[in-house]
Amino acid sequence: MYEFAVAPAVTNIRRRGVEISEVTPESLGAEMDLEPGDRIIKVNGRVVRDYLDFRFHTAGETELLIEVRKKTGEDWELELERAEDEDFGFSFDQIVPRQCANECLFCFCKGNPTDARPSLFVRDEDIRLSFLYGNYTTLTSITEDELQRIIEQRLTPQYVSVHATDLDVRAYLLGVDKERADIGEKLKRLLDAGIEIHAQVVLCPGINDDEVLLKTIHDLAAEYPRITSMAIVPLGLTRYNTDTRLTPVTPGFCRNVVHQLATVQEQLRSRLGTNFAFLGDEIYLRAGLGIPGRSHYGEYPQIEDGVGMVRSFHDDFARTIKRLERNGADHLSKSPGTIFTGTLFAPVLQKLINKLNARFHTQLSVVAVANGYFGGDVSVAGLLTGRDLLAASEQLEGEFAIIPKQMLKSDEAIMLDGMSTAAVEEKLGVPIHAVDLSGLTNLLLSVDTNQSD
Ligand code: SF4
Repeated sequence: MYEFAVAPAVTNIRRRGVEISEVTPESLGAEMDLEPGDRIIKVNGRVVRDYLDFRFHTAGETELLIEVRKKTGEDWELELERAEDEDFGFSFDQIVPRQCANECLFCFCKGNPTDARPSLFVRDEDIRLSFLYGNYTTLTSITEDELQRIIEQRLTPQYVSVHATDLDVRAYLLGVDKERADIGEKLKRLLDAGIEIHAQVVLCPGINDDEVLLKTIHDLAAEYPRITSMAIVPLGLTRYNTDTRLTPVTPGFCRNVVHQLATVQEQLRSRLGTNFAFLGDEIYLRAGLGIPGRSHYGEYPQIEDGVGMVRSFHDDFARTIKRLERNGADHLSKSPGTIFTGTLFAPVLQKLINKLNARFHTQLSVVAVANGYFGGDVSVAGLLTGRDLLAASEQLEGEFAIIPKQMLKSDEAIMLDGMSTAAVEEKLGVPIHAVDLSGLTNLLLSVDTNQSD
């Protein structure tokens, strides 16, 4: 979930052009007398809808006619010449995302508590955010303009939620009719135009598993390497999602899927040279099985979707330990502290931290925090909230706390339940460091952990 990218949809009204949010001093943009609040409407006669358009229409152009609506309401036309690679020094407004027109059975929006912040209810389905951040789209309501834009502006790769290639099943899962659910022609156009596609399946027991899943893998793999990879992630149900058509994912279900996929992956590997269909880390963890080794994931094509993230972290951490053994660990922080994480990842992290503590006399503890805010089977670290941390506060040990960075809004230290990091810090009485997995090892190695971020 890329909440930072969808937040403006709640607060912004769509207007013409793209708004400049910052201008670097002494840049070309500053020389043009443009300032924050001004909107670029057209470049060389072509309409600018967002900053991707601006970049596309200006790329490689040395002679430009730029139409601007000043924040004062004046309209300017600016003619200029620039060196081909000369930067304008502009920062722009975030993209206001287009909304989806589906009614997916498993939509996360239906599983939000009613008091969750408004941006969590935004159903984004935007090919630009797919290109920029790896957000998945279903392509069910993509317009001709958008298809052409992907192709013309080379917005590749695109991330597509396929869920099932069986049309009846896809339509049922997305809550749309079969005509809308059928994206065969659209996909073909993108693939024929050289657009790289990464596919996703949200696996719902009893709906798109077993034979339906095998068919989906088979159909998508037939397009390899044009379809580069496929991520299979489990359905997640909060306590608010009570749709009786959905069956929770159990450890037994996950074990079956892992075993079923092992054979398929072996066949794909020998035929394509890649496993192609990758299971989300959550499936292995819920199954109680080990995460596959490094070579299983190739170039980690779906790491942002939680596929291979645990393997990558595990290997980074192991490398860090080796480096410390080689170079000495005098600089390693020995202050006692607590790492809060979700119940799913806690056992993995606990093992690694135990190793670190034993070898280098660090004093870190790991606390598995239950997700009381969303409830259900939500156990990933990124969906923990401030009140979940406070509920686990008695387990806090030491002088600082580390939390997953994904718990916070990207542009503000606010958690999903609206609590600020500062408020939680105050209640816990220790500084909090919010880090992602790759930042965790760096943090332990480098900083004075008694100062908050
Ligand atoms: S595509 Fe489906 S899951 Fe995604 S926001 Fe729309 S309804 Fe929800």
